[in-house]
Amino acid sequence: MIASVLPTYSRAPLQFVKGEGSWLIEADGRRFLDLGAGIAVNALGHAHPKLVDALTSQAQNLWHVSNLYEIPQQQALADTLVDNSFADTVFFTNSGTESCELAVKMARKYFYEKGEPDRVEIITFDGSFHGRSAAGIAAAGSEKMTKGFGPLLPGFVHLTFGDLDGVTNAITDKTAAILIEPVQGEGGIRPVPDAELKTLRALCDEHGLLLIFDEVQCGVGRTGKLFAHEWAGVTPDIMMVAKGIGGGFPLGAVLATEKAAFGMTAGTHGSTYGGNPLGCAVGNAVLDEVTSDGFLNEVNRKAGLLRQKLEGLIAQHPAVFSEVRGVGLMLGLKCIVTNMDVVQVGYDNQLITVPAADNVIRLLPPLTLTDDDIDAALDLLDKTAAQLSAA
Ligand SMILES: *Cc1c(COP(=O)(O)O)cnc(C)c1O
Repeated sequence: MIASVLPTYSRAPLQFVKGEGSWLIEADGRRFLDLGAGIAVNALGHAHPKLVDALTSQAQNLWHVSNLYEIPQQQALADTLVDNSFADTVFFTNSGTESCELAVKMARKYFYEKGEPDRVEIITFDGSFHGRSAAGIAAAGSEKMTKGFGPLLPGFVHLTFGDLDGVTNAITDKTAAILIEPVQGEGGIRPVPDAELKTLRALCDEHGLLLIFDEVQCGVGRTGKLFAHEWAGVTPDIMMVAKGIGGGFPLGAVLATEKAAFGMTAGTHGSTYGGNPLGCAVGNAVLDEVTSDGFLNEVNRKAGLLRQKLEGLIAQHPAVFSEVRGVGLMLGLKCIVTNMDVVQVGYDNQLITVPAADNVIRLLPPLTLTDDDIDAALDLLDKTAAQLSAA
């Protein structure tokens, strides 16, 4: 008999009942160090007092009104995002993949309104992840995600990660946009070099294409900048955000320039829940914190410390780990043993990490993790690696 929850997930037999900062408490009372943060979602850790306060005070007043009416919390969050980014305008969604849907629609509508309705194709890269909606799986294009779900949404051209000549050759009079994660998450923490992002920006400018960044995982302070592309000094035309922006409340957004958004007039897109008062109250609290004085400096300081210690860990355990890569607190440890074994033995040691492609384990801790948490992380990783070396 099928499980009452549709069995699409393979779950670890762990039941967390409470969270405090970087720690999760299991039903049996054990405390786990959380270096996964719900896959880069709990940007401010668990039960952050400011988020608890924002959520509960909003809950006492008004949970939801339709986008048929003005929503001041949504307006405030949009203003903050516009003030702190390349964007002129923001649409709120509830998830990353919904942000992907709009990014694709917006790019196509832009060219349609420009009188180029055949410009519908979007260039994407292998190893990418843009969510599980129909556009999301077609965009990423991997067999694992798309098999059996055809016919897929047409209009995506899949190229090899890092193949810039391939991009130049793939651009035709049907190309509308290039869609890329500045740091691939699911693909194994693969940062796109700054020079490549610059080249993609230049190619888009040269050919009049839109550049779309998927910052669902790498955005909202994760890399030590508010948005990862800031490191490269280039800006996109459209950007997808989700995960960290809600700190655990389901919230996503699409940010765009006025130019890119020009086809998206009244009635062209919508969402029942997207940008509702409850979600935006939490989003405002997350953004207030992440943009507060010194917050990102601290993220960068801790990222430097963690990375340096991880280099030491690799040197100590050359049979287990080969490399640390990533940006800020979006780090990947490339494994020599099977990455799932590291994750499993980590669980035994009350340590949460997240597997990714390319035999990598991801470290995506709360941005609020403390220096003591970093020490605890290294102790637990060292213990885990020692057990795997001995095995
Ligand atoms: C998680 C993720 C998504 C999908 O987000 P959901 O909220 O699961 O729909 C899209 N893009 C990237 C880069 C992601 O990491």
